[in-house]
Parts: sequence; C-alpha cells; structure tokens
Amino acid sequence: MTDTYMAADLPFSGSPVIPQMCDGSKPIQFRCRKGIACWNTCCSNIDISLTPYDILRLKQRLGITSNNFLLHYTLPYEMEQNGIAGVKLRPVENGTACQFMTPEGCSVYDDRPTACRYYPVALLSMRKQDEYTDTQSYALVKEEHCLGHNEPREITIDAYRKEQGLEEYDELARGWRQLILKKKSSGPSVGKPSKRSLQLYFMVCYDLDTFRSFVTSEGFNELYDLPADETKEILADDTALMLFGFRFLRQVLFGENSVALKKAAAEKRQERVQEKAQQIEREAREKCAAEQDSMYGNPDD
Ligand code: SF4
Ligand code: SF4
Repeated sequence: MTDTYMAADLPFSGSPVIPQMCDGSKPIQFRCRKGIACWNTCCSNIDISLTPYDILRLKQRLGITSNNFLLHYTLPYEMEQNGIAGVKLRPVENGTACQFMTPEGCSVYDDRPTACRYYPVALLSMRKQDEYTDTQSYALVKEEHCLGHNEPREITIDAYRKEQGLEEYDELARGWRQLILKKKSSGPSVGKPSKRSLQLYFMVCYDLDTFRSFVTSEGFNELYDLPADETKEILADDTALMLFGFRFLRQVLFGENSVALKKAAAEKRQERVQEKAQQIEREAREKCAAEQDSMYGNPDD
C-alpha cells in the first residue's frame, strides 16, 4: 500500500515545517494579534494555494464572478507533472505582498483562504491507495520573523482550527482533497488524464460560475440525468454546485458512476467500456504470445 500526503499549502514561501507530525490534541504556543511587532510580515511575501471553497468565498466577498476572480487575483500552477492544475493567490504587481493586505490587516479577513487560517500549522492529508477516506495530521511551521510563537498562549491544534473557522473550510474542501489524493496515489494505473478532463477539472474546481453555465448547457443535459429538484438546488447555491462538481469529477477522472447518465448515453458508455476491455485483453494476449515467441521460438517457423 502506498501512502500519499498532501501538505496543505504552506502559506509563506520557504516555510520550514518542523518535520514532526502530530494530531489535533497537541498544544501549541501561538497568538497573532494586531500591534505585534511582526504585523503583516507574513502577508508581505506570499505563496498561498487556494482550495475551490477559498475561491468561492473570495469571489462572493468581492462580488465578482469566479472567472474575474481567476483573472485578477490568481496564478495557475502545476500541482504535479502532467497532472492537475492548482491555483495560487497572485501577489501585487511587481511585488510579493498579498493584494488583500492593508495596514490594518487582511481586508478579506472573514473570507481569508484556508492556508492563511492554518498558519502556523500545516495540514497533512494522507490516504491509502484506492481509498477515498483520508486521515489528517498536522505539523508546526516556525519562521524566525513570526513572533506569534513567543506570545504567552497555549492552545491545542483542534481548538486553534475551531477558532480559525477551519472545520467548515476543511469539510467543504474534503471532496476536492480526496480527488487530488486519489489521482496522486493512483499514478499510472489511472493513466494520464485527457486534456478535456483536465479542462473540466479546472473549470469545476476553480471557475464555478462557468461550471454553472456548463450544467445548463444542452450537451450536459443530453448526457446526464439529474433530477429537476437537484438541478434547481445546485444552480441556486454555489456550495451545492461545488459539491456536485466534486462528484461529477469522480466520474470524469476515475470513471466512477457518480452521476446518472441518460439511457442512450449510458448504453454508449457501456459499449465504450466493453470495447476498451476487449482492446486491453487483445493487447495482453498479443504481448503474451510475442513473449512466448521470443523465449521459445515460433513453432510455425
Ligand atoms: S488573504 Fe489576508 S491573511 Fe491571507 S495573505 Fe492575504 S492579506 Fe494575508
Ligand atoms: S505573528 Fe506571525 S502570523 Fe501574526 S502577523 Fe506576525 S508573522 Fe504574521
């Protein structure tokens, strides 16, 4: 079995994670407060990956579409070679500071991203190969410039997560993290996703308003059999749409039957699956025969 982990987005460049994993009951000494001598130092040099729920909250906060948010506030990056893309906060033009930093602190504080909430804790998600359930553990990041570690307050990581509103953020990002972990730990057995499925992944995870239009498109409705009340709910609610999107991606990326197909589409899909299985069998037979030939020679020769 292979364990895979995904460090949750160490928020600030070059963050040295003290390589000691612990669970949520571990107490840490830390407090960040206005007036501290290092105020805003962390937000002056950012490297913050965003979850789909981070983007949802920030685009709602700013009152703009997800597409506009992506254009003005993010940079794409490759999470793994030939694999799925991630999105990071784009710093200010010609600088390293966060666009949301103000002298008073974070201008989007109530909707700040997961990585900003976690700091100075790093989340490590792990899962066993071919399982969707993941387990979480944590590590502490100690950077010299951050004086919060000298503040006289002890708090367990669990209580810190609660204080920072992370229970909701983690819960709503779980489906996404599980997709990434499954993709990473499946490796070549799942194969390289097609360009189309990578585009769908990007749209669903990061460009929710475009995904909403996609769900209303003729092509989508010819293919998928969504009950009318579910369609109504996901079109009206960003969070429901995002969660549906993760379900949809399990079908797109891993071939799971997670969204019902219309009868004709299901039959076509079944045909494709059968054809693929036959092709794999044929190739395996041919390979086996060729190996036997090279070992023992062809009896017809
Ligand atoms: S979003 Fe807010 S907390 Fe996060 S880096 Fe930017 S200013 Fe700092
Ligand atoms: S205590 Fe740490 S997290 Fe808070 S402002 Fe200072 S550097 Fe940033």
